[in-house]
Amino acid sequence: MAPPVTKEFIIDCPWCKAKVAATETGRAEQSGFEDYTCEPFAYKVLVGICPSCRSILAGETQQISFENYDSDEDRWSDVVRIYPKPPKVFSSYRIPRVVKDSLNEADRSMQAGANIAACVMLGRALEALCRDILEPRAETTTPAAAGAPPAKNKKKVMLGEGIKKLHDMKMIDDRLYDWSQQLQAFRNLAAHPEDISISRDDTEDLQTFVNAIVEYIYDLSDRYEEFKARAGARSKRKKS
Ligand SMILES: [Zn+2]
Repeated sequence: MAPPVTKEFIIDCPWCKAKVAATETGRAEQSGFEDYTCEPFAYKVLVGICPSCRSILAGETQQISFENYDSDEDRWSDVVRIYPKPPKVFSSYRIPRVVKDSLNEADRSMQAGANIAACVMLGRALEALCRDILEPRAETTTPAAAGAPPAKNKKKVMLGEGIKKLHDMKMIDDRLYDWSQQLQAFRNLAAHPEDISISRDDTEDLQTFVNAIVEYIYDLSDRYEEFKARAGARSKRKKS
């Protein structure tokens, strides 16, 4: 009798800080057709053990092409780790999509060992945050503005200028400003075609800083507003 085949999947181990071939010990799969578009979908969650540090790892992969539908063969995305250290989730609905997408890309780049690409994406996330906070929004919903020509050649806020303004406006404190400047320095290094390398540890720290800034600007201020609203409602009830 042939020995049982051990399945493996490639995943980033946060403790070994490297891609490893985890021994698969379990999986759950789901597939079907989307309700409206009728397009096929499939994804699976894999659970396994790191061969080097023996810790438990779980990751998710999605099918990106389907045999006899849009391709000659089935293809699956790289496995993205969901345990331990899942990608950071934010609660605020105000966070622009470009900020979230950039943070996700940064996370994926890092899991793929692409630290320079991750730094570029972290810088992009912070720059998008600066633009969201500092640039006046196009008021296309008002009838007057809808008919007005779009503002042309409006200079976009750049990262360095953006973080300085946020600091001047006291939107971020000295420490967050410090972190932002570090990120800007790494982003500038990463964005230019020079022979550099950026360590995983540095990239992880920069990711933590950017997450903290996004959390501070959006999530925490939302929470505080809700908290104040509840306190206001309570004192109103007391008075009446
Ligand atoms: Zn490991």
